[in-house]
Amino acid sequence: LIVLGIETSCDDTAAAVVRGNGEILSQVVSSQADLLVQYGGVAPKMAEEAHSKAINRVTQSALDEANLTAKDLSAVAVTIGPGLSLCLRVGVRKAREIARSFQLPLIGVHHMEAHTLVARLTDRNLQFPFMALLISGGHNLLILARDLGHYIQLGTTIDDAIGEAYDKTAKWLGLDMRRSGGPAVEELAREGDSESIKFKTPMLHHKDCNFSYAGLKTQVKLAIGSKNIDAEIPLSLASSHDRSSRADIAASFQRVAVLHLEERCERAIEWALKMEPSIKYFVVSGGVASNQYVRARLEQIAKNKGLQLVCPPPSLCTDNGVMVAWTGIEHFQMGRFDPPPPADEPEDTVYDLRPRWPLGEEYAEGKSEAR
Ligand code: ATP
Ligand code: FE
Repeated sequence: LIVLGIETSCDDTAAAVVRGNGEILSQVVSSQADLLVQYGGVAPKMAEEAHSKAINRVTQSALDEANLTAKDLSAVAVTIGPGLSLCLRVGVRKAREIARSFQLPLIGVHHMEAHTLVARLTDRNLQFPFMALLISGGHNLLILARDLGHYIQLGTTIDDAIGEAYDKTAKWLGLDMRRSGGPAVEELAREGDSESIKFKTPMLHHKDCNFSYAGLKTQVKLAIGSKNIDAEIPLSLASSHDRSSRADIAASFQRVAVLHLEERCERAIEWALKMEPSIKYFVVSGGVASNQYVRARLEQIAKNKGLQLVCPPPSLCTDNGVMVAWTGIEHFQMGRFDPPPPADEPEDTVYDLRPRWPLGEEYAEGKSEAR
């Protein structure tokens, strides 16, 4: 079994070829980081153009690196949501084109399920049921994964995701945004005093598992203003006094941002263990899971609760094609896939795109537990 995975839901164009046994044959990512620096965020139209420009090259490189042609594939997997429709469409169009030409089955993949299941590729002992925290640019999710395709959502964000808070903090601190903001904040935070600014931990009075990062973002912005930090002056040109106040803000922000994760995760694990006492693993994935401080703190939470932390390597935590191919494989093996598109598929076919697509059902008892 050999599957090509294609990912275009947000700002990276990615493709990879993976074997049914989990062997990664190739992995290609084309990032739009330069565009992000220019425009200060993801502009859907710009992102779509960048995907359209990159998609042929990225999928071809994935096949070349794997020393294969599309004829050798067993199926094509592609992200169909959640994400920006304009962007999703670019990947889906390419996936259908290949599937149509070579009459291959298609698997439509949920982006956040892919972030979750890739942990089962990197850790082959990871069995259902397990607990998962997904932390990325657009999502903060606490999930009880009961079985393949059967997820219960214990918590989500009520406003911004943690990755968004990292990105804005980086921007306001004048950090180098050529990579995404997260790694830059993580690096600078190592120089700072994380106790120097007393940011308030969000939602401490809400005894549920939801998240909120909008208030923390505002607190950071105010702190930056009160220290007269000018984001126009890059960190490399800042005075040493200015540099150390920026580092203090980065460290204090990171401490509280992660405290919020820790507090919610502890509670979510307790809820999950009541439903599924046999849980042994706690998966942490999504772009922010590449952060070493986040990993270390959540490792401790897992340990306290008697669980083992599973965190994919950074290149599989941020958006990638491997996670899409692997999720395709898991579904394919259960017989869940679409037949090849008809050879005479009309140009104006309406694709099944799911820009807003919840991962599983909400935990109904969450509200009463929270009381
Ligand atoms: P989503 O998965 O919600 O659709 P996305 O696909 O854009 O969003 P990912 O690629 O999974 O997000 O993750 C990108 C996010 O991860 C960015 O916000 C980035 O700042 C953050 N990130 C990446 N590395 C780190 C790090 N070392 N520390 C903190 N945050 C990080
Ligand atoms: Fe993602």
